[in-house]
Amino acid sequence: MPATRVPRWRLTWCLPVFALFVGLPGSRAAAQESVLETRSPTQREDTAFARLVRQWTTHPEFLSPLVDHLPKVAGVPSPKDVLGYYIGAPKKLTYYADILKYYRALAAASPRVKVISTGTTDEGRETVDVFVGSAESIAHLERYREDLAKLADPRGLSEEQIDKVIADGKPMYHIMGGLHSSETGPPEMLMELAYRLATENSPLIEKIRDNVIVSLTPVAEPDGRDRYIDWYYRYLVNDTSQSDRIPGPPYWGKYVYHDNNRDINFAMKTMQNLLRWYLHWHPPIMHDLHESIPFLYDYSGQDPQNPDYDPILFGELPWYSNYEMAQMTKYGMPGVWTHGFMDAWSPGYLGSMSYNHNGMMRMYEIFGNGGATTMKRTLNRSQTSREWYRPFPPYDTVTWSMRNNTNYSETAVLLGLQLTSQFPKVILQNFYKKSLHSIQNGENDTPHGYVIPAGQRDMTRVALLVNLLRMQGIEVGRAEKKITLGSDTFPAGSYVIKRNQPYGRLAHILLRLQNDYPNQSEQTYDDSGWTMGLMLGCEVDSIDDKALLDVPVTPVDSVTLDGTVTGDRSPAFFAVAHFGSENMITLRDRLKDLDVKAADKPFKAGDVEMPAGSFLVRAAGAAGAADRIRTAVKELGLTAVGLSKEPDVPTHDLNVPRVAMFSTWGSTQDVGWVRYAFDRFQIPYDLIFKERVRQGNLKADYDVILIPTQGRGSKSLVMGLAPQKEPIAYTRTDSFKNLGMYGSSSDITGGMGIEGVLELQKFVDAGGLLITMGGSSSFPADFGLVRDVNASRPSRGFYAPRPIVQAEILRPESPIFYGYTKTFVPVKYDNGPLLQVPRDEQDDEVLMKYVGGEKAVLSGLMRGADQIRNRPAIVDVPVGKGRVIMYATNPVYRWQNHHEFNMVFNALMNFDDLTLPPKEKKAGRERGAN
Ligand SMILES: [Zn+2]
Repeated sequence: MPATRVPRWRLTWCLPVFALFVGLPGSRAAAQESVLETRSPTQREDTAFARLVRQWTTHPEFLSPLVDHLPKVAGVPSPKDVLGYYIGAPKKLTYYADILKYYRALAAASPRVKVISTGTTDEGRETVDVFVGSAESIAHLERYREDLAKLADPRGLSEEQIDKVIADGKPMYHIMGGLHSSETGPPEMLMELAYRLATENSPLIEKIRDNVIVSLTPVAEPDGRDRYIDWYYRYLVNDTSQSDRIPGPPYWGKYVYHDNNRDINFAMKTMQNLLRWYLHWHPPIMHDLHESIPFLYDYSGQDPQNPDYDPILFGELPWYSNYEMAQMTKYGMPGVWTHGFMDAWSPGYLGSMSYNHNGMMRMYEIFGNGGATTMKRTLNRSQTSREWYRPFPPYDTVTWSMRNNTNYSETAVLLGLQLTSQFPKVILQNFYKKSLHSIQNGENDTPHGYVIPAGQRDMTRVALLVNLLRMQGIEVGRAEKKITLGSDTFPAGSYVIKRNQPYGRLAHILLRLQNDYPNQSEQTYDDSGWTMGLMLGCEVDSIDDKALLDVPVTPVDSVTLDGTVTGDRSPAFFAVAHFGSENMITLRDRLKDLDVKAADKPFKAGDVEMPAGSFLVRAAGAAGAADRIRTAVKELGLTAVGLSKEPDVPTHDLNVPRVAMFSTWGSTQDVGWVRYAFDRFQIPYDLIFKERVRQGNLKADYDVILIPTQGRGSKSLVMGLAPQKEPIAYTRTDSFKNLGMYGSSSDITGGMGIEGVLELQKFVDAGGLLITMGGSSSFPADFGLVRDVNASRPSRGFYAPRPIVQAEILRPESPIFYGYTKTFVPVKYDNGPLLQVPRDEQDDEVLMKYVGGEKAVLSGLMRGADQIRNRPAIVDVPVGKGRVIMYATNPVYRWQNHHEFNMVFNALMNFDDLTLPPKEKKAGRERGAN
């Protein structure tokens, strides 16, 4: 801290006392207020807490009058009573089981606290929600929940009834911490907050307790919490400065690390639990606590804003953040700021579930050290400059402690709760109005809704789409009869999403094209395009005809698709149509012991036109096979025909490949999404790391090695994490049971190295199939596994926050495109390399290319779209006896672009049948001319 700065906290606390002596009437009132507001003169306080907190707070101005004290109440356990230490104690982090133990002890002792179970995580830990409020609120939680449900869906209620609900109701303010596991402070702070809210008798807290129901997700990613704390105690606890820092643990949760906050389709179990809880309880405010930039960034929903959200939201967000900034600045706490960091465009953050459902997502970034160790920190000038939105900036250098972090986050959250307690009816009214507007918006504005027509070739992805919408609480109906809207008709069985429903806005946000990005020169924090129909490869029709709202429908709870099996009753063969379902690869696995072939060409079986790539499964000669095939086809929603004899169509064997997925230790997240997709579709694979690659003889164990996108380019893929002073083991030990999961290593630093590259080269030369995805596709080019293909990056001015763009399939006869019917397909643009293939090899090796140019940007933002014009999107290069397939696309992007998943799944299923005949050169075309 610069010497010239005045410790403002002292200043504010000194001034009123001084004013008291000189007898200024206004100031006397202010002085009394500040004391009376934030503590109770009659309540016993924990003096050791006050002393230690002052000691652990590195500068007096980093403490506030809201959290510099803590009541001591007989019979109600404080965190220290259960954990043995105060919150914010140096070098103390609390494991998840102990956090639950604390909340349960608090709930057992106080009628103001209640804990409910909400499910389990991927690793089987219990997820909970903790409610804190007055004894009256907690005793009548169900009634308050019902009130909120009425405001969330006011259909059928009169104005008078709504007025009464608002008059009798209370807002619920939900707070969550620990979504990102290295952001360790908030899960600690929330325990102290819960205790304070349950016990303190200051006017400030009493008002919050009476007027607001607080609910908490103590740790949003419990699996990652425990793994990170293991890592902290094993490696980080004694660090003294940033420069000591080693890389974090390879995993937080089971799959996706930081992207648990980008899980737009709620793939992760833990996130599903929270969404289910949310849709039951309807908290109008959901507040997500993160850690990164100094000292406290208070989200205000800055530009680019998604204009489909209710405009009220964009008034509420700065209302809260400005209040908190003003109050904390008044307390003398530097570095609290708003705007200037995170926008409001994507609906895909975890907390967005709140504003997606007409509530308010709030978010902080609090300064943290990645643990509870006090450290000297040097800050980036871009974080410490004075800006219009940062009038009292953070210091350039600072010694920062866990208690500072606790003070900042707890103070700010309490101010948010205070504001809510001052205006509880405004919050309820706003929530109601936003719900009402969503219904009215669908009634009055086009489109009035969407239709997902029945009879699409692959109905498994239609079922997936409907179920994803239903998971978000969006009402979907099934039309039992044919729909006629003017000259448009849709078959019976089509799904209808009417927008005149509480979550009609969300349906619109998810299903529409993102073609209204507000300002092309502005950056956005995450994805710019996500249109679900394009991402799932389903037809979804936007309907402007208001008559849609009157189409009779049966509400859909969820869709379970039954497959169909027709034809011969005791068949020798089954033909299973490849209509593009992702479940085809699951079927292959279920029938892995049977003889399965794929048809090279289309053929007819019974009444079904079987496209190329359809399966021919031999049932004859294997006991019980026919029943197993029927059951699997039905469960997987596929279409099969029983045949008495083998049809007359050329085929190739679908041998089951032995698959390895390669992961670096330093960048497991995008690999995690691919692992997740493989697990969901039951695709067997070994997860391998540098250790296995360097061992060599890869072809003995594997037919296919898949390298998902990861890290920062091919150098980091090969060289891995920078070596440290000591080896860094990721292994399970008696003390650290959460480490060594999903792979283990005696030293995660260093990569496969050049010797690893050679082993991959040998693998391909010996007949292996190497598949690289997204960013990893620069690797075969940069390291010469494919000699003639080059990879480069776009030049300056190119900006593509993952829009959806058009690609053209150039070799539809490749098995990679089995199940695809169109030449032009939408793909997610995930900033893979710009590939270049020599002109005389293009016709044979480029299987798909980007169309490029502005018109080919289907949804979302891409600046400089000409740079990808005609660039290869999938390249298949024969090398030695094997081949390398490079996807410049990322065909398994999060749990999102299902339409592209089969471009990889097909490659796996047909791994030894991918050779295509040379393409006939078009007559009259001058080679070398453009
Ligand atoms: Zn975070």
